[in-house]
Amino acid sequence: MKITRVDQFSPRQRTRLVRITTDSGIEGWGESTLEGKHLSVPAAIEEFSGYLIGKDPLRIEHHWQQMYRSSFFRGGAHNMSAIAGIDAALWDIAGKHYGVPSYMLLGGNVRDRIRVYAHWGIRDMSEESLEQARNRLEMLSAMGYTAYKAGPPGFWRAHEPPSRIDEFVEMAYTMREWVGDDVELCFDFHGKMAPGIAIEVCNELKGMRPMFVEEPVPQENEDALKLVSDHVPFPIATGERLLSRWEFRRVIEQQCVSLLQPDVAHCGGITELKKIANYAEIYYQHIMPHCAIGPLALAACMTVDAVVPNFLVQEQVDQALGNGIIKNDWQVKDGHIELWNTPGLGVEVDETEAMKVFDGEATGYHRELGGESYFADGSVADW
Ligand SMILES: [Mg+2]
Repeated sequence: MKITRVDQFSPRQRTRLVRITTDSGIEGWGESTLEGKHLSVPAAIEEFSGYLIGKDPLRIEHHWQQMYRSSFFRGGAHNMSAIAGIDAALWDIAGKHYGVPSYMLLGGNVRDRIRVYAHWGIRDMSEESLEQARNRLEMLSAMGYTAYKAGPPGFWRAHEPPSRIDEFVEMAYTMREWVGDDVELCFDFHGKMAPGIAIEVCNELKGMRPMFVEEPVPQENEDALKLVSDHVPFPIATGERLLSRWEFRRVIEQQCVSLLQPDVAHCGGITELKKIANYAEIYYQHIMPHCAIGPLALAACMTVDAVVPNFLVQEQVDQALGNGIIKNDWQVKDGHIELWNTPGLGVEVDETEAMKVFDGEATGYHRELGGESYFADGSVADW
């Protein structure tokens, strides 16, 4: 079997797909979305396709090594996202070739269904926001979710007055009051705080017993993450912006956090996500793969979630369940998604929908990642 074509599609905002075609007629699909970078990752995949055409698609590790190492300049979000989309498509092909779900080729499933959490929270304490939050919670609880993630709204300076902190803390405690003690609530600080204020806010939250706080500070400095973890009595998570085992190395070995969130579409794909999880296992760290894009990325995440013991919960946004581009939407039941029994990644792409072109120029790709964000004094803010 040889690879004959590599095609790319961009049917939705935050959903860019790779299709690899073989001379046996088997096609594999992967997702290569790098949020906010809609031109550069497709160019990187185009560069790799010259290498891939004519090669045996089943030599996945060999191709990963070639794509990672041969370009001399290793890593980087564009390169690793391009590798990730190709890698997922190759695992899809391998599963279809051998007639088994791709997770069976990674050692087989250690669980039968994947626990997922949904995004839910209270935006502010106005009657309108509370009403919206109540309605969404009702809809999500009916689907059986038992874990939700929210975040502190707005921009955060290196310190904020008590009223600002109290407003967020009140929302968090109200969420706990509404869901009770059997549900897990977590908060994504989105890397927009400095260590001092992150520790202060986390300590205000501790009474409502969060499951974790994610990216209390940006991901670049492991020591700053460790500083926060050391001062907070519940798990800290990070990893959606870390790429490959080499970028996770210090976070894992120095135990800067308890929970790791590699993004399968950015960290180097299924092949690399599994290795990161295996590496973290010896430190009793658990993975909760980041997934804020489309249904093919969710399929790739669950392929690894299925086979590693140290998996905790899978992130999932509404559009990842299908968004009109797969024929068999992922179904959430009792807060879980059942593993599939069909060959490959368990997804049948609706090619007519996949070939539609999302008009990013009109609707603004530049807003895909927060747009331009400034503090009141005009300086750049993290969002
Ligand atoms: Mg996040």
